[in-house]
Amino acid sequence: MENGAAPTAKPVIVAIDGPSGTGKSSTSKAVAAQLGLSYLDTGAQYRAITWWMVTNGIDLDDPTAVAAVAGKPEIVSGTDPAAPSITVDGVDVAGPIRTQEVTSKVSAVSAVPEVRTRITELQRSLAAGAEHGIVVEGRDIGTTVLPDADLKIFLTASPEARAARRSGELKNADLHATREALIKRDAADSSRKTSPLAKADDAVEVDTTELTLAQVIECVVALVEEKRAGK
Ligand code: C5P
Repeated sequence: MENGAAPTAKPVIVAIDGPSGTGKSSTSKAVAAQLGLSYLDTGAQYRAITWWMVTNGIDLDDPTAVAAVAGKPEIVSGTDPAAPSITVDGVDVAGPIRTQEVTSKVSAVSAVPEVRTRITELQRSLAAGAEHGIVVEGRDIGTTVLPDADLKIFLTASPEARAARRSGELKNADLHATREALIKRDAADSSRKTSPLAKADDAVEVDTTELTLAQVIECVVALVEEKRAGK
């Protein structure tokens, strides 16, 4: 099979959670591409709704104001792992959602329950519609969004490794400042009331600190194949 997906194979749902800088996106995209599955970056959806709120001048310090408009923007995710895309009301926001401003505000927006309900519905409908199955990456996929996923992975890495990876992605980033910002965002994501960043009880934990990206991909592909073989 050229794309790894046997025509008779039952769709497989893979949930990959973990904090930022653990290699979640690169791993999820590569695993999906290798196995012929769809791919969903749920962080991009939370970033997209945050971008819309910032653009429309919503007061992000006021959860009631955020909740009141959570249903307004139309967020569409393209799930081809070779060319993932994200639009808000038809506007391509793949670039604008990665700015420092959106990154620093996304935790506040994603903590609002109405925002989570809205985005969780989108995620479940995309997962249900994926013909061969899907790799969904985020913070609460294994615990809340897709608790019946066939395979759950929780990626971790030391704060130093995570900051170094993020600084490598962002040009001219200061390593210390990146580490501090990342720890602050993870703390906010882990301590919020509604579906915080957490490892599901039945998730396989993979510490990527000492692993190359290729090794992490190989490990996850092997775990998916084991599941498919019914082991
Ligand atoms: O993965 P990424 O760093 O792009 O995620 C951005 C933010 O989106 C996270 O810091 C978190 O606040 C939010 N998020 C979430 N639940 C998810 C995925 C992301 O709350 N499943």
